[in-house]
Amino acid sequence: MRGSGLDAEGLVVEGSSEFAGVPDAFQRLWTPHRMVYIQDGQQPHADDCPFCIAPSMTDEKALIVARGEHAYVLLNLFPYNSGHVLVCPYRHVATYDQATPEEIAEIGELTQIAMRVLTEVSHCDGFNIGMNQGRIAGAGIAEHLHQHIVPRWALDSNFFPIIAGTKAIPQLLGDVRRNIANGWPAR
Ligand SMILES: [Zn+2]
Repeated sequence: MRGSGLDAEGLVVEGSSEFAGVPDAFQRLWTPHRMVYIQDGQQPHADDCPFCIAPSMTDEKALIVARGEHAYVLLNLFPYNSGHVLVCPYRHVATYDQATPEEIAEIGELTQIAMRVLTEVSHCDGFNIGMNQGRIAGAGIAEHLHQHIVPRWALDSNFFPIIAGTKAIPQLLGDVRRNIANGWPAR
């Protein structure tokens, strides 16, 4: 399924190609009231990088949580867990060593704030934080630097990823974005 369209019940189905995210091998089972269909294997070209396009869209449309001067925070369209956010520089650079000192400082600052906000709004017990550098290292979108922040709960691993290649995500992305954005401190 490409682009937006109507499904059999007349509901608007949004295409994932319009949003930013890092695809992986998992399918998502969206446990609330609707399904979002995700295409496999989409890779951006340099001229349509989703992390370059996202800041030109509204926060709601692009799932942006917070905007800084050199970097911004958005939800991953392909979350490992509810509240999985990405911190990206605005500039289209591939690897950490290409980032400027200002970008590095703000990526770090936004990462700290995201940890505090996620702890506050989602009561998570821990985090996985990191950057995959290069496609061989697992970067879904290797051309544009992004730091993953994945909140973890004591009981968040279940049988779905093991037996079905599917993750159950208990909250819709729009609801998650609003909760995190509302909890983000004013600058
Ligand atoms: Zn880019």
